[in-house]
Amino acid sequence: MGDADYAARRRQLVDGLRRRTDASERTLSAIAAVPRHEFVPADRRSHAYEDRPLPIGHGQTISAPHMVAIMTDLLDVSPGDRVFEVGTGCGYHAAVVAEIVGGEAVYSAEYVSELADAARDRLARLGYDVTVRAGDARTAFEDRPPFDATYLTCAADGAVPATIVDRTCVGGHVVAPVETSGSVGAGGRSESGQRLVRLTVRADGVDREDHGAVRFVPMR
Ligand code: SAH
Repeated sequence: MGDADYAARRRQLVDGLRRRTDASERTLSAIAAVPRHEFVPADRRSHAYEDRPLPIGHGQTISAPHMVAIMTDLLDVSPGDRVFEVGTGCGYHAAVVAEIVGGEAVYSAEYVSELADAARDRLARLGYDVTVRAGDARTAFEDRPPFDATYLTCAADGAVPATIVDRTCVGGHVVAPVETSGSVGAGGRSESGQRLVRLTVRADGVDREDHGAVRFVPMR
């Protein structure tokens, strides 16, 4: 398949997302600009523009495009904002965010060093100015000033680690899947599973919004 075929499939994907989600045009243009087929293993390229997650090796996945769209909208960033990503994986979501915020503003931590190395090379080759560091996001980029927004692409157990929330500016958002095991819901049903949450950092704590059930790999 040639670049023109990939581009046609990408336009179809974006048209589908426009119909099925409330994603903003700004987010959809970013998705329209990123060559997702470059981020998936060679033997998965024919599936790159289907709206689903795909395996990328090391037991990890590339997120489905609609999930990237929803999370990017919730992050609510503008050109020049500094963004912290937890879980680079293949680097796709970072590239979509970089399309919006522009150069030298996306910082991403990846636990698996092989994935971090591959994503760093791929993002550089495709012209994305994303700073990737290998290691646990709980302590990554502590030498940097606070970020305007943060998102996790792996599920935090119970709550987003404080060391990550603390690195986000007051007024900024933290968008994350959070594993909520064993809470009791309406009617006494046990409600376990992951919820997508958006925190807004306040001087005296955080506000929390729930954005529905999701499924992500667990944070390590
Ligand atoms: N952002 C990717 C999705 C990556 S999947 C995309 O564009 O599709 C989630 C990633 O989070 C995995 O690669 C996993 O290794 C990483 N991860 C899990 N726990 C982590 C931690 N504590 N610190 C940094 N990365 C972590």
